[in-house]
Amino acid sequence: MRAVVTEGHGPPDVLVIRDIDVPAPKGREVLVRVRACGVCRRDILVRQGPHRRGLADPLVLGHEISGEVVALGPDARGLTVGERVCSTQREYVCGCCSMCRTDRETLCSDLRFLGQEASGGYAEYVIVGDDNLVHLPDNVDFAAGAIVGCAVGTAFNAVCDTGRTRPGESVLIAGAGGLGIHAIQIARAVGARVVATTRSPAKVRALEQAGAHAVVVASDGFARGVREATAGRGVDIAIDTVGGAVFHDIRRSMAPGGRIVLVGEVTGATVEVDMATIYRRGLEIRSAVSTSRRQLEMALRMVASGAVRPVVDRTLPLEEAAAAHRLVEDNAVAGRVVLIP
Ligand SMILES: [Zn+2]
Ligand SMILES: [Zn+2]
Repeated sequence: MRAVVTEGHGPPDVLVIRDIDVPAPKGREVLVRVRACGVCRRDILVRQGPHRRGLADPLVLGHEISGEVVALGPDARGLTVGERVCSTQREYVCGCCSMCRTDRETLCSDLRFLGQEASGGYAEYVIVGDDNLVHLPDNVDFAAGAIVGCAVGTAFNAVCDTGRTRPGESVLIAGAGGLGIHAIQIARAVGARVVATTRSPAKVRALEQAGAHAVVVASDGFARGVREATAGRGVDIAIDTVGGAVFHDIRRSMAPGGRIVLVGEVTGATVEVDMATIYRRGLEIRSAVSTSRRQLEMALRMVASGAVRPVVDRTLPLEEAAAAHRLVEDNAVAGRVVLIP
């Protein structure tokens, strides 16, 4: 089969098309014919290195996968050959540890992430454990279905589960990337008042179209803009898809008792904070770590019902994986780039 193999770490040129064997499913594994695979910022971090321990060899990136079941391992359950499916971001979780049993399998210490510890979806076929595949509704196309498990599901985790957003509350969505644009839609669907922030004036219209009641361009005064949009009160919840660079802006944008939710690959920046500014105002800081299987199913339900529309900026053939990475690195896209084998 054709696959995009990552040969060493470095610039996009390390992604090369190779012919490799189609894997055979064992135990509870399922062989999926890949119809679409999203390109995530996480793929770029893995490609760039530094080398992480335990990466698959050969390393095929991609954890946002949709396709059809082609073959089942002898012990695989709950799926049929020909069924349309999409993946959680993982190839394997243990299923029985305290994290797996409490809807937090994203923190399972035995998990193998697709496109990292396990070969991923930049290929014609991929192996995924039966527990990590979900039925894809007929009215959700493959490109949209591919990105629900990451860009929509993690936004659902942040807004609904970790952020505990309720109707009538105000939500700040910081960052207009793949996560942000879906978090806006989900917060709006939940019945919240939504304020979005972006560094880029060119993205204001897309954020308004996604459902933001107000959009603040960060350079015009981040916290001041958010307060103006909430009658001076600040927001109840902030979803931070950016990281350290905007932490203090977000802190100053919070209403008393507000919840700050960290989500996505944070930049690695160090932030110095006077703890009293968190404690005195009763602020919470929580983390939404990727998407559980249940969160993926909830996100798929919102997509199938039309409440949330997955934003695919463009699709490209598998052979253009390097070009796709350049587009994402240059912030040249609004929504996801999706590869089609
Ligand atoms: Zn992703
Ligand atoms: Zn586990």
